[in-house]
Amino acid sequence: MKPKVAHIIVTDKCGHNCPMCCNRNYDIHEVPNITKKELEDVETICLTGGEPFMSKDIDMFIEKLRPYAKNIYVYASGAELYNYWKKNYKVPNIDGLSLSPKTMSDYQLLIELLQDDCFLSMLRWKSNRLYIFIKQIDPANFQTEEDLDAVSKLINLAQSLFKVFFRVWKDEIISPKGEIFRNINFEELGI
Ligand code: SF4
Repeated sequence: MKPKVAHIIVTDKCGHNCPMCCNRNYDIHEVPNITKKELEDVETICLTGGEPFMSKDIDMFIEKLRPYAKNIYVYASGAELYNYWKKNYKVPNIDGLSLSPKTMSDYQLLIELLQDDCFLSMLRWKSNRLYIFIKQIDPANFQTEEDLDAVSKLINLAQSLFKVFFRVWKDEIISPKGEIFRNINFEELGI
């Protein structure tokens, strides 16, 4: 069975230090590079990390990979998407976003972003997901009423734009059948 989905690591950089980060379980640099054949066979590319929006090359990744996939999605926590928007005042040329805020800062900045009319007017993405993992990530960050209010507020703001999922954190990535997890080297691929 040919893989239909490729999860591609854009960067190992991340501003968070989640206690249950699955990247702690292996050396991210040992993940194999995607081959040209694999790239030509996939339908969907999910850009991941680390935190993809911490890479200054995120737009280059998207543009180079665009011809290879029907869908390009990005996994992000929130704060770095906000920073990308504030720096560029454009939304990336992708098909969807999977957001999983980890800290109060992610929640607060996403709340700000989802109240920004200019940002909202540019959203054309067809598949947006918001994953809520609060208890599993860092319960110490979500104890006050204000924290919990922020979680409810983000969910309310996101509801018309995102599918909202409440998930249990898994500390191990087990790629489902038909999905692969890869690094990428554009030079090696000749693209
Ligand atoms: S945001 Fe993601 S990559 Fe970064 S530490 Fe948390 S789980 Fe790991």
